[in-house]
Amino acid sequence: MEIGESTDVAVRKSALTPKAIIYQKFGNEACFKVEEVQESNQNECPGLAIVQRGPCLYRCSLQLPEISVSSGTFKKKKEAEQSASELALQKLGIDPATYNIAEQDPWNALVNRIKFLFSSEFLTTLHPLSGHLRAALQREGDLYGHVPVSVIAMLDPKISNLSKSIDPKVELHPYMAISYVMKAAAGLSGIVDTSEKQLWVKRKNPYPLKITDLDIQQSGSPGSCSVEAIYIPCSNGKIVYAVNLDVSSTGYYLDVVANQLGLMDASKVLITRPIGRASSEVRLYFAASETHMLEVSSDLSNTKPDMHSDGSYNTRSSCLSGEAIYGDAILASIGYTWKFKDLFHEDLSMQTYYRMLLNKVPSGVYKLSRGAILAADLPLAYTTRANWRGSFPREILCTFCRQHRLSEPIYSTVSISEAPSETSGSHKKLKLRDSAVEETEHANGSIVAAGSKGVVESGGTFRCEVKIYSKFQDLIIECSPKESYKKQSDSYQNASLKVLIWLDAYFMNFNTPVESLNSSACELDIKFNPTNFFKAFALCRPIQSFSYGETQEGRADESNAMPGQGICGPDSGVSPSNGSIACISYSVMSVIKSTNTKELLESSDEFEFEIGSSSVLHQIEAAILQMTVGQSAILHMDVHSPELILAAATDSERILSLLSSKDCCLEYAITLCQVTEPLEDRMEQALFSPPLSKQRVEYAVQHIRQTCATTLVDFGCGSGSLLDSLLNYQTSLEKIVGVDISHKSLVRAAKILHSKLNANEASAGIKSAILYDGSITEFDPRLCRFDIGTCLEVIEHMEEDQAWLFGDVVLSYFCPKILIVSTPNYEYNVILQRSNLSNQEEDPEDKAQSQACKFRNHDHKFEWTREQFEQWASDLATKHNYSVEFSGVGGSGDMEPGFASQIAVFRKGTTPTLANDDLPVVVADNHCSVVWEWNSGKRS
Ligand code: SAH
Ligand code: MG
Repeated sequence: MEIGESTDVAVRKSALTPKAIIYQKFGNEACFKVEEVQESNQNECPGLAIVQRGPCLYRCSLQLPEISVSSGTFKKKKEAEQSASELALQKLGIDPATYNIAEQDPWNALVNRIKFLFSSEFLTTLHPLSGHLRAALQREGDLYGHVPVSVIAMLDPKISNLSKSIDPKVELHPYMAISYVMKAAAGLSGIVDTSEKQLWVKRKNPYPLKITDLDIQQSGSPGSCSVEAIYIPCSNGKIVYAVNLDVSSTGYYLDVVANQLGLMDASKVLITRPIGRASSEVRLYFAASETHMLEVSSDLSNTKPDMHSDGSYNTRSSCLSGEAIYGDAILASIGYTWKFKDLFHEDLSMQTYYRMLLNKVPSGVYKLSRGAILAADLPLAYTTRANWRGSFPREILCTFCRQHRLSEPIYSTVSISEAPSETSGSHKKLKLRDSAVEETEHANGSIVAAGSKGVVESGGTFRCEVKIYSKFQDLIIECSPKESYKKQSDSYQNASLKVLIWLDAYFMNFNTPVESLNSSACELDIKFNPTNFFKAFALCRPIQSFSYGETQEGRADESNAMPGQGICGPDSGVSPSNGSIACISYSVMSVIKSTNTKELLESSDEFEFEIGSSSVLHQIEAAILQMTVGQSAILHMDVHSPELILAAATDSERILSLLSSKDCCLEYAITLCQVTEPLEDRMEQALFSPPLSKQRVEYAVQHIRQTCATTLVDFGCGSGSLLDSLLNYQTSLEKIVGVDISHKSLVRAAKILHSKLNANEASAGIKSAILYDGSITEFDPRLCRFDIGTCLEVIEHMEEDQAWLFGDVVLSYFCPKILIVSTPNYEYNVILQRSNLSNQEEDPEDKAQSQACKFRNHDHKFEWTREQFEQWASDLATKHNYSVEFSGVGGSGDMEPGFASQIAVFRKGTTPTLANDDLPVVVADNHCSVVWEWNSGKRS
């Protein structure tokens, strides 16, 4: 649009009041304050003031970004406000009578704004731009009074906004504003001089002497000072380094920046928007290149970084700023602010620079929030608010969007309400039956239907959806998790974390093909618009050096370290497990083996994290899982990403020289200080004596003794608590086997059983022990025909259909003579909940929602009522020719609400099992892998 076009807009006289005009021009920036004042005659007769109060009068003061005025006194508030507005308009040179709608045209407003910026009134105000105007008057020779256009275009929020209303694409290409300012200024030939080629604007007539004298006095600060800044060469091959800007009080700091960039004149320097927080003065400075100006004037909307093949594209700077930057750039925190007349400046270190880069990546934001750049990792699971450490997923996602100049994420939750159920008196049991019937009807339904219904439940659950839009409201990512949560805030966090995990994987590898992006999105309930997505992150794409650390595959592969390797200190017996909070102290050093040079990079005396949520480097977690409280370990890792190390280290120059050495590696020294057990375990220990887990084991041992069993398989043995306890008793057992899908747990089980079997006399009868890694819902011939099978507190960790499948597989294929299965009794949760224990980790804001009963452990997929469990067990028993008896531990079976842990004991019938047509055909394949094997022959 050309300036002239604005005359096409019909010129109508405005019927706007002065106050309305102020609002239209300044919006929220206009601050009206009305105060009561007593009538002036009171001053003449002070004695009468109390008795004879005159009518109340009002005075209004109006604060605008650049000026403030105060009205006279009026009888009505409104009048005072109108008067103040009128005074302000006078000061701004706006005549309310001739103010017309055309004024709202952004072109005219832009012209007026520039007029105002070069008025003598503006020169003395506190505004980021007025400092530049004053400094320009201190420039010497031909440059006297020259104000660089980029300063006007980039540092006045009003000009930026007006440019955006002229063309919203300015959001993406901020330097388009430069050509607007040039055009607008060219139309003000009576007031300013311009040079399109040179990119400066200058006030035509000199300022009144008074003003300039005053100003020079004010800005007189001592001698010259030096500001630390960061030089970012455009070539990725060249290293980023620190530079000093010598900004003396009398020069113009932009000339110093220009010189550093090899330019003669500040007008050739372009300035980015603030980087990081909106209020920051950290910006990038770079030369306005030919290419760049070409781009500005030709108004390219789909700039792709690689279209400039001349090698001048500055990938690192472009990523930092979210703007396409060409040529070398300087990152500095310097400029004039709204607060002070003098130049504001802050030193930037290399560490700050690397941290800013880190902040562009989801896992980087998380690491920074934890203050553990070299140890923390973005968790892959959100379990509970109480277990999360560092910024919450929702905060991280908001930071991420801000960093990439996207709109704030939009959250919407659906509350899935459930029929309220009676919770008191004798109706309880009846109600329970009702809801159980309802539940079977919905058996194939969503996770919500599974288990979350129950007798004590009131209120519903929440499902959350999050959407991420560009600044132009183009939908980029949409995540609608299937899961629902009892707490609304949990549903927000979960949805946010899914998006973060997906984005992080992309940032680790920008070359991920669209198909794999698609499939990983699917798994995380994410949909994305590829066009909008790639556009949003186009400027970040080229930074390949970002792909630090491990890939997702790298995370998944488990440590193959032998139990006990590299760990020192006595075994205290207190070890972490999934869901517990480990507290470690650690330090990370860079080590050069040949010269034995060590340099501390990062350390912490107290670093807490949840086991099993992948919130630390997987090597660290793997090591911790093999340690007990008080033990220490040293881990060595290769240097994957110099960027991370530089973001962690303070002395970057020294670190850089160390990193360049070939045999440099990282040494992590870790001590496990404390373990806080998962809520369920703590509860079981505190409320039951002996602890519920012990009671379960004892229950199983009793059965084993009664039957004189010689072989036992523990399905879902975890870290071997049952097998371990069994070894404390004299039994008839000769062969014990454990199966689990958690390799980590099995490694711990192996460690415990190994030392126990080699030392313990009670277990002398045991001839062999094996641990298998594999799923208990799949067939493996080696698990068949044991005397006794146990499956304690395992089925609730599977989806309900898997629990049914397990029942089928175990009773029809594995056929143990006796099978003992335990699982929590959901009805008992009311009692657990009444105790403070299960509530103490709730944050107060969620108190109300926690009234609804929750599962005992975040990993539980369901918890069954007695009726549900009995249904499961009886159906299976009938189908597979077993008998079944019910019992339990904790509490009493004769009293409501039954045992805390319910137990079913299946016994194999004598009649042969009928053929089961509906069972899957199995191949006699050894799907389990042996993790550890022990034979009595080895006993020392
Ligand atoms: N029985 C142990 C552990 C209970 S925790 C005890 O009483 O202490 C539940 C265990 O079930 C976990 O170790 C988990 O890894 C395991 N598990 C869950 N699903 C499984 C499956 N399909 N196959 C084998 N183990 C499974
Ligand atoms: Mg459990």
